[in-house]
Formats: sequence, structure tokens, C-alpha cells
Amino acid sequence: TPAVRLDGVTRRYGRGGGQLTALDDVTVAVRRGDIFGVIGHSGAGKSTLIRMVNALEAPTSGIVQVDGVDLASLSTAELRAARKHTAMIFQQFQLLDTVTVLDNVALPLRLDGIGRRESRERATEALEFVGLGSRLGAYPGQLSGGQKQRVGIARAIIRNPAVLLCDEATSALDPSTTLQIIDLLKRVNREYGTTILVVTHEMDVIKNLCHSVAVMEGGRIVEQGTVMDVFVRP
Ligand code: ADP
Ligand code: ADP
Repeated sequence: TPAVRLDGVTRRYGRGGGQLTALDDVTVAVRRGDIFGVIGHSGAGKSTLIRMVNALEAPTSGIVQVDGVDLASLSTAELRAARKHTAMIFQQFQLLDTVTVLDNVALPLRLDGIGRRESRERATEALEFVGLGSRLGAYPGQLSGGQKQRVGIARAIIRNPAVLLCDEATSALDPSTTLQIIDLLKRVNREYGTTILVVTHEMDVIKNLCHSVAVMEGGRIVEQGTVMDVFVRP
């Protein structure tokens, strides 16, 4: 089974669900272990797609499956459990400014009921993996944008998610920092086997990071295939 599958997914917004079609009959399958990119302009439907995979939003019609499980079939409690199979990183990092880097990364484990000591040990390992082992006690405000995104990645991988969702994760970073974050995401994919689903408007991210790509326009997928086939060979 694919890591993520959307089958004929439509999402409408507006009174009675009729005003605006954010996703229009979208079908995609993200293979386990793939780095899959969705590229499109602002308003194309990328965030809506990622919110469906994260089970933050339900389709108006169609099926969303994560790890072979149809999200619509789950109870609230099961949905909460299913959300632990995914984790997300963000354009604006979404770190808590009032707690240390270490406690930002430990927080998902603390919320799972894991003790402070074990949570901090595992957070330390995750921060060492992303190259921030020497900044455990720093606060986010003391870090560069690239370092903040490394913290975001450490926090995202700490529960060993099957799928890492990246929502414009490099759009606030300069080109050389973007390349460093791309290298780190490749290392997460290679060393942990994490499937990565990226949404971005940046073609360089697709070309440098992704194996597979879907091109979105106005809520529809207009092209889909390997990055080689869609963007490099023609
Ligand atoms: P309905 O079809 O019942 O009117 P909608 O599809 O409009 O429902 O809304 C679904 C959810 O999206 C609701 O929680 C609603 O508050 C929210 N929502 C609707 N329109 C907007 C908007 N323009 N911006 C942000 N959220 C919205
Ligand atoms: P992208 O991430 O590619 O910029 P989005 O998924 O955010 O695209 O938006 C797709 C379309 O759906 C846009 O026209 C946007 O305004 C609309 N949209 C997104 N979320 C909502 C919402 N909650 N309520 C109403 N319209 C929305």
C-alpha cells in the first residue's frame, strides 16, 4: 500500500459547500519511502491537500488514506492516534519562543505522556541528528532561520512518523540555507526511511529534493510523474 493515497478527492468551501473548489477530483499515490513534491502557485490547493493528509480537514467527496487506512472510517480517538503517523514542518517554523530548543523538541513526547527525562534524552538525540547538539539550551529567538527549521525537523521526527509533511518549509530561507535544509531532509528520508510529502511554489526545491512530482493548478493535478520525466527530460 502507498504511504499516502488520495482517490477522487474534492474539497469545496463556502456556504453549502458550493462556493469555491479548493481541490477538484485529485488522485495521487505517494509510494513508501518516496520524496514527493506538489508544486503550484498560491491558491492552487496545496495547503488544503496537506491538511487532508494530516486529518485536519475532511474531503467533501473522495477517499484519503494514510498507511492504507481510510481516515473517514476512524473514530475521533482513532483519528488522534492516526495523526501520530504524520508530522509537519512549516514556513514560519511554529516554535514556542518561551521554551528552550530542547523542550520544543521534547514537547510532542511530553504530550504523549512520556517522562521529562526520557523525552529530553530523545530530544537531545534528535537535535544531535540535525546538527544542533550544542544549542540545546538556546531559545528560538537566538537562532537563525535555518537553525529554527532544523529544530522544526527535530521536533517532527522525534515520534518517528511514517510521513513527514513539509508546507513551504524553505520559503522563508535564503538559497544556500534552503540547500542545507534539503540535504537534511534527504538524510531523514535515507536514514529513517521516512516518506516525505513536500508542498512548495519553488521549482528548485522540487528539482533538488524530490523524486516524484504533481503539478497543481486551480485545485486540479495537471501533470504527475517522476521529476525526471516531468521537468528534466522534456
Ligand atoms: P458549510 O458548507 O457548512 O458552509 P464550509 O465549507 O463553508 O461549510 O466551512 C467549512 C469550515 O471552513 C468551517 O469551519 C468554516 O468556518 C471554515 N471556513 C469557511 N469559509 C472560510 C474562509 N473563507 N476562511 C477560513 N475558513 C473558512
Ligand atoms: P495553496 O496552499 O496552494 O496556496 P490553498 O489550499 O490554501 O492553496 O487554497 C486553495 C483555494 O481554497 C484558495 O482559493 C483558497 O482561498 C481557498 N481556501 C483555502 N482554505 C479555505 C477555507 N478554510 N475556506 C475557504 N476557502 C479556503
